[in-house]
Amino acid sequence: MNQQVNRVFSELEMDAKPDNIYIQTIGEVLRAADLVGLPHRLQLILAQPKNEIMVHFPVQMDNGEFQLFKGYRVQHNNVLGPYKGGIRYHQEVSLDHVKSLAALMTIKCALNRLPLGGGKGGVKVKPSALSQMELMRMTRRFTSALGENIGPDYDIPAPDVGTNAQTMAWMADTYMNVSGPSLRQGGASVVTGKPVEFGGSLGRDKATGQGLVFILDELLGELGLDVGKVTYSVVGFGNVGSWTARLLAQRGAKLVAVLDHTGSIRNDRGIDAGELASYVESKGGVAGFAHAEAVSTQDFYSAKVDLFIPAALEQMILPEIAAQLNCKVLVEGANAPVTPAADQVLADRGIPVLPAVLCNSGGVTVSYFEWKQNRQAETWPLAEVDTRLRQTMQSAAERVKASAKRFGCDLRTAAYCAALEHVGTVYQLRGIFP
Ligand code: GLU
Repeated sequence: MNQQVNRVFSELEMDAKPDNIYIQTIGEVLRAADLVGLPHRLQLILAQPKNEIMVHFPVQMDNGEFQLFKGYRVQHNNVLGPYKGGIRYHQEVSLDHVKSLAALMTIKCALNRLPLGGGKGGVKVKPSALSQMELMRMTRRFTSALGENIGPDYDIPAPDVGTNAQTMAWMADTYMNVSGPSLRQGGASVVTGKPVEFGGSLGRDKATGQGLVFILDELLGELGLDVGKVTYSVVGFGNVGSWTARLLAQRGAKLVAVLDHTGSIRNDRGIDAGELASYVESKGGVAGFAHAEAVSTQDFYSAKVDLFIPAALEQMILPEIAAQLNCKVLVEGANAPVTPAADQVLADRGIPVLPAVLCNSGGVTVSYFEWKQNRQAETWPLAEVDTRLRQTMQSAAERVKASAKRFGCDLRTAAYCAALEHVGTVYQLRGIFP
């Protein structure tokens, strides 16, 4: 770790354990901050979130018993605008995970020049173990526990792993019911990713995958690949993985292997992404899909493909997996899927990484469009959402390319640099209160 990064960690008395996800994320952010010459005082501010909210709340389960849940909302930075970022329901949710993801949201919004800051939240729960009614009661109770820590002008949650449009509808409805008169109607913009019938935006469901495909349209040519001819494999077939695959199918790209929490499948003649998405929807995972062969995890990782797209959870691609990959480019669909040590292995092997803050920022971009539509009482046609999304993704890709050239660095560092320069400029203009 470089000297300046160490100085920040030691001044803040942070325990710089290399395996800790928050240390990994902030370490990378601080290295980029150093590269763009961000003043030390701003590095200190960005090294810790502004607020870390932790709540414990009881929920009555269907059997009449009560269960106590632990929920988080971390607000990393709001110099550019209200905190923004998803709510995750997963059994592995921890404070350090949520802090990392919140910091990445600050970077993502800044890179895309959205007037939004970075936040993230979650509940430690296995959502598939709860009934719909239990999930609803838990979501409502979590929302009321967060109270005034969220709001349409202050902190705006959205879906993430384990949550969806229905979760957002419950959150919005709860918020509107417990708020004062002015928010009782206008409060729906407290969250984005809502169902279209209840203030959601057209195109939000597919937005992360759509943004990723727009980035591939933009960058693959320069890496010597044609998006219409590539073969690829995907880790995770949830919202990001399945939409990416369905949209890439429209371009002519060939999906050859998928791994998820239920198993790995492979078919070198191509897997129909639409069919697989319906199968996963009904069965809960890819295992047992009839039109592909079940393969070992090792066969999955070593499959020869042009693109390898991790689109599940963070820290999945470890050095030993990076060493096995047989791809030309790694495209990050999930947040922080590659550890810094694995990043180094990929760099040594000459495999470029298209970073998550660029590739998966389509989700928050269309969230911003939804928030804007809600506030203006408008509904944009899908074509308008897609056109604006493409423009936003193109501009972000241009910024990353320009930064990579200027600083002579990899694309992840370049994306962080492009975001941090903007954050630095706004801090310079606003100054630090008082
Ligand atoms: N959870 C998504 C992400 O990680 C979307 C956040 C949002 O739309 O606010 O980018």
